[in-house]
Amino acid sequence: MTVTRDDEFHDVVIVGAGHGGAQAAIALRQGRFAGTILMIGDEPDPPYERPPLSKDYLAGARTFERILIRPPGFWIERDVALRLGECRDGRSRRASDHHRCGRPDRL
Ligand SMILES: Cc1cc2nc3c(=O)[nH]c(=O)nc-3n(C[C@H](O)[C@H](O)[C@H](O)COP(=O)(O)OP(=O)(O)OC[C@H]3O[C@@H](n4cnc5c(N)ncnc54)[C@H](O)[C@@H]3O)c2cc1C
Repeated sequence: MTVTRDDEFHDVVIVGAGHGGAQAAIALRQGRFAGTILMIGDEPDPPYERPPLSKDYLAGARTFERILIRPPGFWIERDVALRLGECRDGRSRRASDHHRCGRPDRL
């Protein structure tokens, strides 16, 4: 069991709510893993596809909802807890601080 906060326990903690993190959570549930799963991401949004971000979303060809890896309800139905806008180091962060998640600024 992994301890994530004094008051919160999860069997699996996935750090990073990108494609890799999302697929890990999906695979665990597809494999009938019944324990608790927490996915932590420093971005404010649930997991989304990166390629269409630049090719479709920013070009106005698709809405943000249509580039989500799964609709928001999917994570609730599969009992995958999302903690967004936060670094794994436990410091609570505002979404606008995204670029300061222990890494250099980047484009
Ligand atoms: C705009 C764009 C277009 C792309 N187009 C293509 C393409 O056409 N074809 C292709 O093959 N690939 C493309 N890629 C690359 C592809 O999307 C990546 O290979 C893929 O996103 C990697 O997924 P990942 O989950 O491993 O990492 P990421 O997508 O980087 O996700 C990791 C997530 O974890 C978060 N994170 C990291 N550390 C922490 C921490 N300590 N605490 C909390 N959160 C943390 C990061 O902020 C990020 O949200 C593109 C990438 C981008 C950005």
